[in-house]
Amino acid sequence: MFADLHLHTIFSDGTYTPEELADRARQLGLAAIALTDHDTVEGCARMTLACKKAGIEFLPATELTAELDGNELHLLGYFVDSQNPRLLAEMAEFQKVRQNRIREMVARLNQHNIPLQADAVFAIANCRSPGRPHVARALVMGGFCANLDEAFERFLKKNRPAWVPKFKISALEAIALIHQAGGLAVMAHPGLNRTDGIIPDLVSAGLDGLECFHTKHSHSASEHYLRLAKELNLAITGGSDCHGLSKGKPLIGTVRLPYEYVEKLKSKSANRKSVEPLNRLTVKPVQPLDASTIQRFNALTIQPFNE
Ligand code: AMP
Ligand code: ZN
Ligand code: FE
Ligand code: FE
Repeated sequence: MFADLHLHTIFSDGTYTPEELADRARQLGLAAIALTDHDTVEGCARMTLACKKAGIEFLPATELTAELDGNELHLLGYFVDSQNPRLLAEMAEFQKVRQNRIREMVARLNQHNIPLQADAVFAIANCRSPGRPHVARALVMGGFCANLDEAFERFLKKNRPAWVPKFKISALEAIALIHQAGGLAVMAHPGLNRTDGIIPDLVSAGLDGLECFHTKHSHSASEHYLRLAKELNLAITGGSDCHGLSKGKPLIGTVRLPYEYVEKLKSKSANRKSVEPLNRLTVKPVQPLDASTIQRFNALTIQPFNE
């Protein structure tokens, strides 16, 4: 039995509807899937129903863009309550910032003689949590770029003419936000960020897990994060980060997390809920980890790993 715990739908920058995603998961024989749309949990209600029909276990989640000491990282919040008022209020703010970022990107494109309109991007996105892939699709559909890659290469990649930095919540606040909503905070694709040095601070702020298996992790990167997760007593997760058909072939099911890790994640969630009060936002200041944990962490991180 296998799971894919990192998936996006039309509620952010994926192309599949919840129903299509659940159907794909059923065809692939997945036992469990999680929805991790950027800055939203709106798709979770439909996904719950679709998975029920497909006979698949569903884990509600989201993916937040965060920052610690100038490093960008993505935090997955598993089992968050999709009705949690504080989470919903914060995410509504993130979504507003995303929408303004689209307007800014379009203004920059206009300055570069690309007469794209923000409304065209919003129409294509048709969701509250739009991002660069939607601008890329609008550029292709408007005939300004031949394909999505060209849109990113010419305009949207970091330091290209239409690139606008993204708002990032502090990682410590993001972890607290996820916890108060009843969720577990997991660092997404750590191998992409290559900022292992921040992991001890994240752990002392309450990080619950590491996404050890990811499409863009090499075998050695996965092994490295598995060792790290075991040493630091963190949950182990994995997923394909499927965005549907927007990036060539759909990735769902290409990363197969053994179901035993889902069991462990669920028991970690049950333990958390029994010891920590929900709905209270407590941002933990970073306290150094105990010496032996730091020693074990250092022993692992000095080993070189190649992506
Ligand atoms: P945003 O959240 O608006 O910054 O957009 C991030 C999304 O854009 C993620 O889903 C990325 O996978 C996607 N993305 C980033 N860089 C590229 C690229 N060079 N080509 C295609 N997609 C990209
Ligand atoms: Zn995305
Ligand atoms: Fe991510
Ligand atoms: Fe993602």
